[in-house]
Amino acid sequence: MHPLPHDTSRDDDDGFHEECGVFGVWNATDAAALTALGLHALQHRGQEAAGVVTLSEPGKFHAHRGLGLVGDIFGDAKVMAGLKGRCAVGHNRYATTGETALRNVQPLFADFEFGGLAVAHNGNLTNATTLKRALVRRGCIFQATSDSEVFIHLIAISLYASVVDRLIDALKQVQGAYSLVGLHDGAMIGARDPMGVRPLVLGRIGGEGGAYVLASETCALDIVSADFVRDIEPGEIVVIDNNGLRSIKPFGRTQNRFCIFEYIYFARPDSVVEGTPVYTTRKLIGQELARESHVDADVVVPVPDSGVPAAMGYATEAKIPFELGIIRNHYVGRTFIEPTDQIRHLGVKLKHSANKPMIEGKRVILVDDSIVRGTTSKKIVEMVRQAGAKEVHMRISSPPTTHSCFYGIDTPERSKLLAANHDVEEMARIIGADSLAFISLNGLYRALGRDGRDSANPGYCDACFTGDYAIPLTDLVDHPERMPALLAANGQ
Ligand code: SF4
Repeated sequence: MHPLPHDTSRDDDDGFHEECGVFGVWNATDAAALTALGLHALQHRGQEAAGVVTLSEPGKFHAHRGLGLVGDIFGDAKVMAGLKGRCAVGHNRYATTGETALRNVQPLFADFEFGGLAVAHNGNLTNATTLKRALVRRGCIFQATSDSEVFIHLIAISLYASVVDRLIDALKQVQGAYSLVGLHDGAMIGARDPMGVRPLVLGRIGGEGGAYVLASETCALDIVSADFVRDIEPGEIVVIDNNGLRSIKPFGRTQNRFCIFEYIYFARPDSVVEGTPVYTTRKLIGQELARESHVDADVVVPVPDSGVPAAMGYATEAKIPFELGIIRNHYVGRTFIEPTDQIRHLGVKLKHSANKPMIEGKRVILVDDSIVRGTTSKKIVEMVRQAGAKEVHMRISSPPTTHSCFYGIDTPERSKLLAANHDVEEMARIIGADSLAFISLNGLYRALGRDGRDSANPGYCDACFTGDYAIPLTDLVDHPERMPALLAANGQ
């Protein structure tokens, strides 16, 4: 289910929420407008807030940040006119840490002895509390509650001379998953964490000699007519200035652990991530799912929107007709007030409607991307039955979600995850389906072109299915008291 501007297709507390999107452009006319467009294409990664910082001449930065959607924040000609300059960085925020308040909206900006620096990042630091405590002991004052400020303080106290060396110094101290864009007087900087959990791509407008673009996904390059150049590599820092691009790899070699959920749900289907088109991969996952969990049925119906490509793949492989048996209403605001249980129960019907003629009297296979708490699945199964389905079989294009994500994706705590507490048969009973099946972990890896999951080196982060957290969860180990705060920050 992956629409724009916000995925209102699930209950707000029943789903994975996207993390954040970053965008940057170096040396282009209308840099602010290009950045606003890029952020608009990345709106699915964060809808709470957005910000843009531009640079018009050395030392002269301009910023605008706001709460809400990109179109609302940057739709004002006066705002755009104030964002002067040929270089800009921007950020879409989903509040994974820190409450949604204007002071938390990125890019964060600070004046240092070497000049101004704007920083925006996507992801989550797993040792932020540990670092913050040490920094506060050294006299640092935190203005915001988000982890992003940790970068700023680490850069400020670094003893290195250049901004790039200071950034490297800072990044060597943080643990976690992040993609980062920064802008200072002389350069735009992009960086990915050593395991490359979160995505970041490089593009160019106008070919060789043209403008450089950094973005979370290729769909943001497409909207500004930038050509895709390459992914920023795990652990790579790129420094882009008027002399071109310089690549630095200051970290030792580690395993690549790109977030496998980007393929299943987060990334926009028209994006290409890590060299693999998301749309095609979702169809392949659906095919694999059909091979693994065949059931006789009359029709395959996706739970829109992000279940659609997997359902297409499933239908092709199973040779069962594909129909849009559920129609999604794209215009339901997430703040719709549902004051009573009765009205709350009606909620799902505001978001989805059964397309009755496609369902009535039929054995239906529903294809969705994940089950988190299960409340949305239960309502959808119920709705499809009410529309006259003879049988309802639920097929899920991810393995059971048994663990929370601490790498920048907003997930419920483990005790609230249906798959962490029930086996598949119990889950089928709870959501009211005649049968339920998830793609296997090996099946998911096969759909990604592997022979299966290599547990010694999976190549992807899949911790929410396996509990194999490759990046240490330092704050949870060193500061168990932070657990409730972390979970609260994750929307609990
Ligand atoms: S835990 Fe899951 S959602 Fe989080 S980064 Fe890993 S694969 Fe992605």
